[in-house]
Amino acid sequence: MTTTALLSSSLVFQPIKPCKPFLPRNHRIPRPRFPLCSAEPTHLMKGGDGGRRSPVDGGRRSPRRGPHGTSRRSAVKKSFAQEQVVFTTPVARDPVVAIIGGGVAGLVCALTLEERGIRSTVFDTGIHGLGGRMATRIIDSRTFIFDHAAQFFTVSDLRFQKLVDRWLEKGLVREWKGLLVELEAGGRASPVPYSASRYVGTKGMRSLMDSIISQSNMANIVRPCWISKLEPFNGTWRLAEREKPHGQFDAVVIAHNGKCANRLLSSSGLPQLTKQMKTLELSSIWALLAAFEDPLPISQNRDFEGAFVKGVDSLSWMGNNTSKLFPLQSDLPQCWTFFSTAAYGKRNKVPQENIPNATAEKVKDDILEGVESALGLSKGSLQKPFYTRVQLWGAALPTNSPEIPCIFDPNGRAGICGDWLLGSSVEAAALSGMSLAHHVSTLLIYCFLVQVQVYL
Ligand SMILES: Cc1cc2nc3c(=O)[nH]c(=O)nc-3n(C[C@H](O)[C@H](O)[C@H](O)COP(=O)(O)OP(=O)(O)OC[C@H]3O[C@@H](n4cnc5c(N)ncnc54)[C@H](O)[C@@H]3O)c2cc1C
Repeated sequence: MTTTALLSSSLVFQPIKPCKPFLPRNHRIPRPRFPLCSAEPTHLMKGGDGGRRSPVDGGRRSPRRGPHGTSRRSAVKKSFAQEQVVFTTPVARDPVVAIIGGGVAGLVCALTLEERGIRSTVFDTGIHGLGGRMATRIIDSRTFIFDHAAQFFTVSDLRFQKLVDRWLEKGLVREWKGLLVELEAGGRASPVPYSASRYVGTKGMRSLMDSIISQSNMANIVRPCWISKLEPFNGTWRLAEREKPHGQFDAVVIAHNGKCANRLLSSSGLPQLTKQMKTLELSSIWALLAAFEDPLPISQNRDFEGAFVKGVDSLSWMGNNTSKLFPLQSDLPQCWTFFSTAAYGKRNKVPQENIPNATAEKVKDDILEGVESALGLSKGSLQKPFYTRVQLWGAALPTNSPEIPCIFDPNGRAGICGDWLLGSSVEAAALSGMSLAHHVSTLLIYCFLVQVQVYL
């Protein structure tokens, strides 16, 4: 980008501005059909804050610059418990961005920053790998695998298509053409037309996420790590995990949502971002992973690989990981992922880190009963799975969305990305990460060029 283009960018003068340049006005990702669609979106955004000028304008220092390289403004609404932080310090020649969250949004953000020559460090809580809700559980053998959140994804946007094409070339994803049906309680199945390509990670969703970042020279990964403190310090963002410091950064990206993000933002000096994040509502979904010695009796239901279930309270989706990931091997145990409905998830919600055994047992029984009911089998006739695991996705899917690609606060050199900003899918998360990376990199490059001009 030329200096003139950067200087004429309106972006840096308007904090908390929807990322208009990146998606055409009124752009909407068509809502594809996934296991667990969120509710219809409602508009949340209340607009920006009136187009304040950026303190980096003209390289002048703010007269109210504080001891930590920031100035505090009182122009914040009463309802905000914290004041807006405003960075006035010069940007480093080789800036580094902290990305908190290593799901699709955070990783695509890191890769897009890399394309623009900007380094990042991605922090993620994942013990077994990256990916967040692109989660895969691998049990003691390479064919005993469950995708236990995202099951497949579709593409409607050219920019995401380009990325997916690169993953296809590298063999990280492939098209999944298995039969999908809509299954009514009692066993009546009708095929879902194959209207858009569906993609799956060749070795599961999580290995896709681990692989896309593994070749990166400019994105550093820190995991497992739960960032619990985010504070402005000497004109940078200082991050810590409990009392353990994790470095200082020129800009920060919040690439996760839910209670954790609310807590992290609540004392960060980013009231606008905090306010937007707090409007998000999320559903809860139970997942049951179950492995069976023999195929389930579904041939009368058209031998499907995945089914959207209707009319069963404890079951909304059933997907056969074995036929999806190992289509050529017919002698393997069958690994199925079952999801409850959101209504069932809400009624049976417990703390997800500490699920009581009795609840896990009840949820397992309810979901397996749901499978019997969906397949039209008599109660108790389904073969017993030899492996089960129950998991609650306490913050599963957004039920409302502002339908903007990202939220960016140039004063605070901070932004939020994630699926919820555009919808509730892998594609939404990837586009959001890309969009925020463009804004962050444009600001950092702009600030740097302004500084250089001032010195010339
Ligand atoms: C049950 C289920 C089924 C789904 N099925 C599909 C599907 O079939 N197709 C589809 O397209 N989409 C599906 N989705 C949605 C899809 O998985 C998400 O839209 C997408 O993965 C979200 O990516 P993200 O990067 O926005 O967030 P996440 O994947 O949630 O990533 C956020 C990451 O940040 C980490 N994190 C949080 N707090 C901190 C902290 N303080 N410090 C460090 N790290 C932190 C989290 O651990 C997580 O790894 C499904 C979701 C669920 C729950």
